[in-house]
Amino acid sequence: MENCLFCKIAAKQIPSSIVHEDDDLLVFKDINPAAPVHLLIIPKVHVSTLSDCTPEHAPLLGKMMSLVPKLAADHNIAVTYDEQGQPSRGFKFLINCGPDGGQEVYHLHMHLYGGPRPWRGMRT
Ligand code: AMP
Ligand code: ZN
Repeated sequence: MENCLFCKIAAKQIPSSIVHEDDDLLVFKDINPAAPVHLLIIPKVHVSTLSDCTPEHAPLLGKMMSLVPKLAADHNIAVTYDEQGQPSRGFKFLINCGPDGGQEVYHLHMHLYGGPRPWRGMRT
């Protein structure tokens, strides 16, 4: 896809801070982080929005989402439990879709936010 920022990042034509890469996905640090950990998970193939996905995208979407526990563990934001079973740490996982959803880059991406609060511009 010409002139797509994230296609260019996936093709390494534009540099990014890559934290994971495999045949289908790239994960890199958001350039303007809203939390101490702010990663973007993208497919290498161009898909504009979640609205453009069909059941055929289920394996790709599943691969993106099922990578989250490993990314969270690698960045020390996975949920942990104390001896009473109380959870701590954790993360927010978000897809913005379309203008009303606040999407700015029209190449499907999943945000992973975590780390100590407060986070910029996010109360919950
Ligand atoms: P969204 O509003 O869901 O489309 O989010 C787009 C995200 O891409 C924002 O959080 C931006 O900070 C981030 N972003 C824009 N350009 C870059 C870039 N060159 N490298 C890394 N992240 C970027
Ligand atoms: Zn693209």
